[in-house]
Amino acid sequence: MTEKKCPSLETIEKIAAEIPTPFHLYSEKGLRERAHALKAAFSWNPGYKEYFAVKAMPNPVILNILRQEGCGVDCSSLTELMLAERVGFSGDEIMFSSNETPAEEFEYARRLNAVINLDDITHIDFLEAHGGLPEKVCLRYNPGGDFIIGNAVMGRPGDAKYGFTRAQLTEGVRRLMEKGVKRFGLHSFLASNMTDNDYYPTMARLLFDTAVELHNELGAEFFMINLSGGIGIPYRPEETAADIALVGEKVRAAYEEIISPSGVGEAVRVVTELGRYVAGPNGWLITRAVHEKNTYKHYIGVDACAANLMRPAMYGAYHHITVAGKEDAPCDHKYDVVGSLCENNDKFAVDRMLPEIQTGDYLVIHDTGAHGFSMGYNYNGRLRSAEVLLREDGSFRRIRRPETPADYFATLDFDHIEP
Ligand SMILES: *Cc1c(COP(=O)(O)O)cnc(C)c1O
Repeated sequence: MTEKKCPSLETIEKIAAEIPTPFHLYSEKGLRERAHALKAAFSWNPGYKEYFAVKAMPNPVILNILRQEGCGVDCSSLTELMLAERVGFSGDEIMFSSNETPAEEFEYARRLNAVINLDDITHIDFLEAHGGLPEKVCLRYNPGGDFIIGNAVMGRPGDAKYGFTRAQLTEGVRRLMEKGVKRFGLHSFLASNMTDNDYYPTMARLLFDTAVELHNELGAEFFMINLSGGIGIPYRPEETAADIALVGEKVRAAYEEIISPSGVGEAVRVVTELGRYVAGPNGWLITRAVHEKNTYKHYIGVDACAANLMRPAMYGAYHHITVAGKEDAPCDHKYDVVGSLCENNDKFAVDRMLPEIQTGDYLVIHDTGAHGFSMGYNYNGRLRSAEVLLREDGSFRRIRRPETPADYFATLDFDHIEP
């Protein structure tokens, strides 16, 4: 069980008096706490760093808060690299874990001296031609088949577009060594939103074993094992959060068993690229009930829509909803909570039991900190919302203004419309 916490009605009213709904609200305290907890869990590894996945919450104020907590960034596009650069990240503080990468993006990442994580064997020659090969390179491994934890199939990596096969890893490392690359990293991302405490440890064992094999086959030296993202959060109250301290300890046990005695490298770093774990529970989408509609079902129409939070429409994802100020009221009404898109998937909740909602009530949609605002889009000409930071002292600050129609029209050309 997980208690679903959110800001009080009083706090929301105070913010909404200045910043119209909808908006995403982020907890600075929560973000710092999560960064701390991660650092503590992996403190046994002196080279540990969390490379926050920028795509989860791409806002410079947020990235800077995480930078202050010792995090780096994981980027996978030109604009994410630019954002990282503008916040002041450089060199080893940037992981570039891209795929189907355009030439100019490799060139940009090389200029920043970012750690390059190659997604495919053909990218060896491509990177050599576009930016050049660095002395250290990380490779993304896709073991194929089923990914099993205990007895349960947790994912099908073989169906995913990412990474080198096992045979390609051997071939790729051999070719990179011939081309003068001195040290290697190994990365994998095998399942998403995993709250199972054995996700990282299971994958860590696979990566550690594979590094040892590559070392034994080719004499390759390793500087880093990158466990990537994928640790999940309890979106539903009945789910249980991952115990990050325990996860860290289990990875440590695997490290001491496999890496420490192996000689694959000096002080091999273990790093992570978590997005959801760090940011997910520290964001809420604040929206207001604007319509109530009773037809074959009972609908509450809100002023946010899937353009502000795509996960329910895209994945059927559950996001908990609290009606602000009615936390203790009985959940005795069944509603569909819907946005305004001309798209029937635009539903934040279906058949959800909630307290009776009046037009004007504030609804808090939980766990929108990761892959929330950032997945936004402009379908139906809907505009992206503001982002607001709730500080540790209870004050707030707008950290992104909402889009205006001028933003929507900025890329359009009306000069060539014939009469
Ligand atoms: C999306 C992504 C992440 C972050 O994933 P989460 O599920 O948010 O932890 C990390 N690394 C890579 C390469 C990704 O694509």
